[in-house]
Amino acid sequence: METASDSPPSSSRFINRYDNYAGNPTSGQTKETSISCSYLLPGLSEILVRTMADTIHWADVIAEDVLKKNCKHLVATGITPSGHIHIGNMREVVTADAVYKALIDKGADADFIYIADNYDPLRKVYPFLPESYAEHVGKPISEVPCPCGDCANYAEHFLKPFLEALRRLGINPKIYRADEMYRAGRYTEAIKTALVKRDSIAKILEEVSGKTVASDWNPFNPRCNECGKITTTKVTAFNLEAETVDYVCACGHTGTVPMAGEESLPGAWTGLLGGRS
Ligand SMILES: [Zn+2]
Ligand SMILES: [Zn+2]
Repeated sequence: METASDSPPSSSRFINRYDNYAGNPTSGQTKETSISCSYLLPGLSEILVRTMADTIHWADVIAEDVLKKNCKHLVATGITPSGHIHIGNMREVVTADAVYKALIDKGADADFIYIADNYDPLRKVYPFLPESYAEHVGKPISEVPCPCGDCANYAEHFLKPFLEALRRLGINPKIYRADEMYRAGRYTEAIKTALVKRDSIAKILEEVSGKTVASDWNPFNPRCNECGKITTTKVTAFNLEAETVDYVCACGHTGTVPMAGEESLPGAWTGLLGGRS
């Protein structure tokens, strides 16, 4: 008997995509990726095909809606690799991938990117870390040592197995790393806008969160040249032409950082604010 995965009906995007994520049971690859509904439960696929033949996949619903805008589309996703990236984190990427594939199926001009937020700070000494990591709390995780000693930095230690899992699942976004984007100046114009419009942003934050924003709050966190942290600095001035930001740090250091540059590490966005648009 022919199974759905051997010859998937074109009317069932659910089956096509499900099998895509689950891997091909006949490929002989790793056991983890060799699970599909038809492989485990012969007959289940046919039932799903019959019951879902007239149902539109949610990714197609989103794609149809997006296609009403007649332009190039960018599907973007991202996770901060601050620790072991667990299966729950996959929902973010799998959702984006499903929409991207639905757009491509419909002939749309679309790109799919994943931004690793590796310039976010280390928030605390997580239980899986030695106490010696206390000195790194507040530094961007791209600048913190890798726990095993074999990776380029802390962020890469957790990013590598995650990206490998994506590849095995057939999810292939273009990968960007935030630290490289900051250095390359990809965020500079957005940083300028955020610095200039600090008061408007603070007002929106207060309206949305219902909390008072501190008078010395700033959407940009300079990285201290002395202690390397981005969570302990305050912006004191900025120069739009020179593209620099002055700061004072809780460690006692004052200084100036560029908004971008290969040699220096700039700063980062506060909290949920990002320079992506
Ligand atoms: Zn490592
Ligand atoms: Zn400092």
